[in-house]
Parts: sequence; C-alpha cells; structure tokens
Amino acid sequence: MTDEPTAKRRRIFSGMQPSGEAHLGNFLGALKPWVELQEQHDCIWCIVDDHAITSGSDPKELPRRTFDLAVSYLAVGLDPEKAILFVQSDVAEHTELAWLFNAVTPVGDLERMTQYKDKSQQFESVPAGILNYPILQAADILLYRADAVPVGEDQRQHLELTRDIARKWNAAYGDYFPEPEGLIGTVGRIVGLDGNAKMSKSLGNTVGILADPDEIWGRVRTAVTDPQRVKRNDPGRPEVCNVYTLHGHLTDPLRVEEIADQCRTAEIGCVDCKRILAESISETFAPMRERAEHFRRRPDEVRDVLDHGAERARAIARETIGEVRERMGLDWRSAVPSG
Ligand code: SF4
Repeated sequence: MTDEPTAKRRRIFSGMQPSGEAHLGNFLGALKPWVELQEQHDCIWCIVDDHAITSGSDPKELPRRTFDLAVSYLAVGLDPEKAILFVQSDVAEHTELAWLFNAVTPVGDLERMTQYKDKSQQFESVPAGILNYPILQAADILLYRADAVPVGEDQRQHLELTRDIARKWNAAYGDYFPEPEGLIGTVGRIVGLDGNAKMSKSLGNTVGILADPDEIWGRVRTAVTDPQRVKRNDPGRPEVCNVYTLHGHLTDPLRVEEIADQCRTAEIGCVDCKRILAESISETFAPMRERAEHFRRRPDEVRDVLDHGAERARAIARETIGEVRERMGLDWRSAVPSG
C-alpha cells in the first residue's frame, strides 16, 4: 500500500457518522482535507447513518442529526457541483453489498479489529452490527470501486480489511474490485481541549463549527495548557501544549512562531494565548456560520442536494451490484431458457 497519493485523478470515498453539527475536530481532521481533495479528485462524501444504528442511536434524533451534519458539510464548503454528497441509507446497495461480502469475510478477521475489541467491552450482549461494522465500511468504499480513501491512523486497520475483502472476493468471483489505497496523513487525529483524548462531542472537549464567538471563548478558556506552567511568570513549553498545536492549524503562521517565542520567555500568558486561539477559531468559523444560516433558512435546498447526490450515487451503486449479483450467481433468470 503506498501512502502517497499520485497526481492522477482518483475516485475517493469517505463518510462521517451523523452526530449532528460538525465540530472543530471533524473540521480540522477530516472536512477541511475533504474540501481540498474535491478540487482534484472525483469525491463521494457520505453521511453514514446505517453505521450509526450499530451504536444504538435514538430513532427520533437520527433524522435531525443527519440533516444537521448535511448542513455542516455544505457550510464547510463541500460542494455538490464538485463531489457527490448523499446519505448512506438512501442507497440500499450499501447494505446489500455488505451482506454479500459476508460470504468472503472470515469471522476471525472481524474479531481481530481493535475497534471491535474496544467497543464490544461496552456491551453485555454484543450486537452483531458491532462485529460486522467493518464489512459495511468495506461495502461503502467498494460499492463505488473507489481507488483511494482518506484515512487516519485509527482507520488503517479497517482499510486493510477492505483491501483483504476486495482481494478475497476477486479471487472467488473474478477480478473486479480495486484494492483502495489509503491517503494516509490527509486526515488526522485532533486532540481535544482537554489536551488528552481525540476531540469528540461525547467527551465535551471540542467546540461546534457553528458556535458563536462567546461560545467559542467559553470552550477555549477551559483548554488544558502546559502543566508545568503554573504561574504567569513561568516559562512555557509550546511543544507540549495542545493550545499551541491548535494555533498551528488555525492561526497565521508568523503569529504562531511569535507565540512560541513569547511562551518560552513568559511574555504571553495562557489566557491571552487562548484568547488569540478563540479569535482564530471564530474567524475560521465565521463564513461557515453564514453559509449554515443560509441552508437552515432553505432546508429544501439541502434536501435537493442530498436527493440529487443519492441519485448519482445510486447510478454507480446499481452498476456494481448488478455485476456482483451476476458473478455470485444471484441472477436466476439467466437459467430460464429463452423463447
Ligand atoms: Fe500553551 Fe500558549 Fe500557555 Fe504557552 S502561552 S503554555 S502555548 S497556552
């Protein structure tokens, strides 16, 4: 597997679970790179609501969360003119292909997945979906015969499984699926404001991309800094401080260098440093807030984007499923003598 994308135009697939409005970690770790990728490649961006049900999502909340994530997709600049944007459950071929891939996926491979080992600890009786989740991921990618997938370190193992499934299926039924490559390093793990865990809404260590400046400051002021910098006059260590890392993503590079120097010499206090970060976040989010407001006032536009995206996705998906069904012998009509 090569880690470096070539300049060649590729078909790229990725998706995000519908957890409502996207947050800073989603933006920096995935959505921002996606916006860049859609400029050079044929991208398919999905909201993977079929995946959400495996973790017991609330059926009353799920539609709203899906809609809110769609608004976030559009607000950050994912562009239906440049990429396909759709909701997974609108294209039933995802779950059909996942079922068909059960035929070539050893249970042992699924049980070895680190995420399965972690997640299954949370259940007394483990739902089969927790085990089979990576098969649906493989189906998501291979349904579009995508040849590249932006992945962070934590998804590398699942991508390997997708490649294995493609290989095993091709060996059983004839060459058809590409083995998708990982665009490693295009997306990444963003550490939360607690300075410890990956940014996530459930841990409350992040800030929503549609938050206003007051909310942003309310969240950023709680951010953990260099633990050795106890007093204002103590020199700080930007290299161990997550506030500084976030500056690297969001603040003007010259100012970031200046902050590092001022931190080491205790010229800047952590409160002021966080204020600058909050301003940088606020400036980054401002155009997104505006675009989100536009789409919130016009929900029909969001629905049309997703409907049109699903139509385009379905056209590719149907072609794949037709070929797969035929090769797997699920075309009984071919046995009916004509005439
Ligand atoms: Fe971190 Fe900024 Fe405080 Fe330095 S001044 S320790 S970079 S918050």
